[in-house]
Amino acid sequence: MTDKKTLVRRTPWPQSQSRAVGTPLQPSVVYAADTPDALDDQYEGRTKGYAYAREGHPNADVLAQKIDQMEGAEGGIITSSGMGAVGACLLGLLKAGDHVVAGNQLYGRSLRMLKEDLPKYGVQTSFADPTDITSMRAALRDNTKLILVEVISNPTLRIADMTGIAAMAKECGAILVVDNTFTTPRAYLPFENGADVVLHSVTKLLAGHSDVTLGYVAAKDPAHRKAIFDCAVTFGFTGSPFDCWLAERGLYSFDLRYERAEQNAEQLAEALAGLKGVKKVLYPTRSDHPDHNRASEILQAGGANMLSFEIEGGRAQANALTQAATNIAFAPTLGDIGTTLSHPPSSSHRALSEEERASLGISEGFFRVSVGVEPIELLIEEFTAAIKASQLS
Ligand SMILES: *Cc1c(COP(=O)(O)O)cnc(C)c1O
Repeated sequence: MTDKKTLVRRTPWPQSQSRAVGTPLQPSVVYAADTPDALDDQYEGRTKGYAYAREGHPNADVLAQKIDQMEGAEGGIITSSGMGAVGACLLGLLKAGDHVVAGNQLYGRSLRMLKEDLPKYGVQTSFADPTDITSMRAALRDNTKLILVEVISNPTLRIADMTGIAAMAKECGAILVVDNTFTTPRAYLPFENGADVVLHSVTKLLAGHSDVTLGYVAAKDPAHRKAIFDCAVTFGFTGSPFDCWLAERGLYSFDLRYERAEQNAEQLAEALAGLKGVKKVLYPTRSDHPDHNRASEILQAGGANMLSFEIEGGRAQANALTQAATNIAFAPTLGDIGTTLSHPPSSSHRALSEEERASLGISEGFFRVSVGVEPIELLIEEFTAAIKASQLS
């Protein structure tokens, strides 16, 4: 019964002899303990409980457990975004005087953190081509503490020499961090292949519906895990219950979404390659991809859900293409359940000069596609019509 004298006291949750099938959403920020002794037990790990949502809450734990299961990890930490995961990992594991070797085609904000932000705190950073182990080795220094790579680069979809990089990290005793966002555990399992830390932008394929911004990071070594966790809790990089709840809901269909999207990507790549006006199609397992041997060696099953292509012409043809592709969202993201199209020269790679873009093979006619789960016939029909329209302009 509610207390008639005040509305301030909490109304009790209804008693029920049946259990909810869906995961409950628990937005509470604070948790009440019985006694100071009970709180001691909890903080010292003798009992399990929550105290304050920034330090942990049930929806984050349920989501983390699910991604742990996919990655073969333990004790994964949910962060407020993919960049929260990158930030917690780098700030938690590094100190002034340490050196980082990073892939030179990382996600734009990760590159910025390494180039502009970390050096302000005395961390040294170098960049190298992760498809070329000689270039990676040349970047090592005596104080190299950490190596950060992505398996598939954006947007040219080059495949890093993960076997070589893992061996190199082991030899020099550096912490190998793999951003597994593009690959997901369906295409690549970092912990089975020598990585020490795995991280994700959960925002992308894992959550899968473009309505959540979250990240995940897991470390093999409990000392690394603790450093990253303390950093995330202290700097406030942890995620909200509602976002965790949505992301967990998205994961129930992850395997189905992934299988269909990967299959679609392979077929769409094949169809695009045969079209007039298409200069080049990039998909990791195609025989004309520069790293196709490595892709079939290190990627499990197929070539994932991302493909890129280049059309004849320049900005005018690119504008005509996105205008004609009315049902394909022209949006700089990836991993949505529906197909999305991005144009690196005007979005992710706009800060580069035209020459720098040209050296990466990114012209004004270059597009990246995050392939979704639509019927493949429909996708082929829509892309064919849009490319045809682009060539008339
Ligand atoms: C999107 C992305 C990030 C950043 O994730 P947010 O959730 O947007 O902060 C990091 N790495 C890769 C590879 C990404 O695609």
